[in-house]
Amino acid sequence: MRKIEYLMEGKRTSDGAGVSLTRIIGTPELNMLDPFLLLDEFGSENPDDYIAGFPSHPHRGFETITYMINGKFKHEDTAGNEGYLTDGSVQWMTAGKGIIHSEMPEQTEGLMRGFQLWLNLPKEKKMVDPSYKDIQADDIPLVNFNGGQIKVISGLYKSILGPGRPHTGVLYLDVHINKSSNIEIPIEDDWNAFVYVYEGEIKANLCVPKGMLAVLETDGAFKCNAVANNTKFIIVAGEPIREKVARGGPFVMNTKEEILEAFDDYQSGKLG
Ligand code: MN
Repeated sequence: MRKIEYLMEGKRTSDGAGVSLTRIIGTPELNMLDPFLLLDEFGSENPDDYIAGFPSHPHRGFETITYMINGKFKHEDTAGNEGYLTDGSVQWMTAGKGIIHSEMPEQTEGLMRGFQLWLNLPKEKKMVDPSYKDIQADDIPLVNFNGGQIKVISGLYKSILGPGRPHTGVLYLDVHINKSSNIEIPIEDDWNAFVYVYEGEIKANLCVPKGMLAVLETDGAFKCNAVANNTKFIIVAGEPIREKVARGGPFVMNTKEEILEAFDDYQSGKLG
């Protein structure tokens, strides 16, 4: 069994044109958890917190996985893709060699809630052609267990394969569990893994309340039980890439020179 190694709280910040969010990975305290570069939770019933959205901006060198729990978002990019994210859907975007896109709310009131995860690409795949996939809520398999259910967004759970198609190994589950029930989740050995509780509270070797990230040890399955009603958490694990990481805003490459090149390409219109 893998235990919780440490807990960390997200940091309130804003991004895009002024969207309020909680940054969970990608903070000064937790810069990354290889292969994950960033995890943001956005969640508000106040349109002022999300209405400005994320107007046109570039990316290069990684993938973004947006899981919309509640709300509606529209995506448009320079590769000609257009998509809508609605309650329970996932957008899987591989920026690869470069994309310019906008992510804008399609609602002016009501609850907007979800996660955006940045998944690094290994050196040999950083400059692949960009690609984009909308995964509708109905296309995400639901596995029932005694005391709850699991949405399999990516990877395998009980031989059920999620629809996400990462370039490296990634397990991404959304677990809904009733109070006093427990669950055991197998994870590939050596993969880095975390749990983020977004409703209720779980208990493993430590208690993890709502709004807390738990970084797990690297070997064995993870087992926990819910200690609050209507507990919900995401558990995400990935094969570490173990390469040098150079970050520059929306670009994540291996060297500083490649970051400067990305800014040059963007400014000269060669990106996207
Ligand atoms: Mn973006």
